[in-house]
Amino acid sequence: MRECGLPEDEVFAFLEARKAEDLAHCSILSSMCTPPHPVAVRAHCLFMETNLGDPGLFPGTAAIERRLIASLGDLYHLPEAAGYASSGGTESNIQALRIAKARRPIDRPNVVIPASSHFSFDKACGMLGVEMRTAPLDDELRMDVDGARDLVDDRTIALVGVVGTTEYGMVDPIPALAELALEHDLFLHVDAAFGGLVVPFLPDPAPFDFALPGVSSIAVDPHKMGMSTIPAGCLLVRNRELLELLNVDTPYLTVKQEYTLAGTRPGAPVAGALAVLEHLGREGLRAVVAGCMENTRRMIEGLEALGVPRAATPDVNVATSRTTTAPPGWRVSFTRRGDMRCVCMPHVTADVVEQFLVDAERFYA
Ligand SMILES: *Cc1c(COP(=O)(O)O)cnc(C)c1O
Repeated sequence: MRECGLPEDEVFAFLEARKAEDLAHCSILSSMCTPPHPVAVRAHCLFMETNLGDPGLFPGTAAIERRLIASLGDLYHLPEAAGYASSGGTESNIQALRIAKARRPIDRPNVVIPASSHFSFDKACGMLGVEMRTAPLDDELRMDVDGARDLVDDRTIALVGVVGTTEYGMVDPIPALAELALEHDLFLHVDAAFGGLVVPFLPDPAPFDFALPGVSSIAVDPHKMGMSTIPAGCLLVRNRELLELLNVDTPYLTVKQEYTLAGTRPGAPVAGALAVLEHLGREGLRAVVAGCMENTRRMIEGLEALGVPRAATPDVNVATSRTTTAPPGWRVSFTRRGDMRCVCMPHVTADVVEQFLVDAERFYA
């Protein structure tokens, strides 16, 4: 660290030069994040100094967090759901498994997750000392419920299903998992980090939420399809008692106990997340999702027309194709099975897809 400070101009000249090294979003097809909606940016700036870790000092910001959770609870058919704003899907998944473990404190617990689940479950299980049992997928890359049932035993504390898998964009059969959970009194966590703000806005949404009695908790990330600023995740839990299993005493704060993982928590992205939901409403989000789904179809079919077959027919806006190479200049990613993956986020407009397909035609010819 330098001894004498620099003038602000010099600091910002340095910062702007580094920012210019970042990639422009218009070439990024590999990310589940997208530039924030302008209303999210405006709300974020307004709440820059707020700390939800000490909500008694920021009652207005805390009311915004409650309203965000209530809006999502309403979307997921349980307006009175408990929950809070986390830093993203990873934290929400860790917290869900912490609840499951506290709900049933036994020796050598295990959880059953699909082979398609996000790597955050490796972190969560490692931290919590929980055995991770991986259930196979069916031919369409959704969790195989019979395979999951075979892995459940008397030390199973939780099941996990994914709504919008990170790699292939599939939605697991949550109704069947919910029944399995009820049968064995298991905590069922639905990882809808990506799909939680896609599936409800599809023309014929697959059931995955609290309308199914077996669903215990849902993770959803406004910083993905919710177009919020980063970091904005949410964990919703069927009832407050479950969340309060995580309570610890907080001696010197304005509240006596807290169940969150982080202590200091930013209010700014929470305000950003709510601003987008309020500004767009279900109608606006339906339009955004319809556009992303249309672009996903066009991407998959456009590549098929060039002789690159699809790897899956996704439930959400993740296009995967059977190739291990991509046209130069584009940031795509590759799945563990070696398929090319393009996430058609809102910044991946119809024009971007057409430009990609023009380049793809030259490249794959
Ligand atoms: C993105 C994602 C996560 C992780 O979320 P972070 O916000 O990156 O921590 C977990 N699960 C799924 C299904 C995801 O898409």
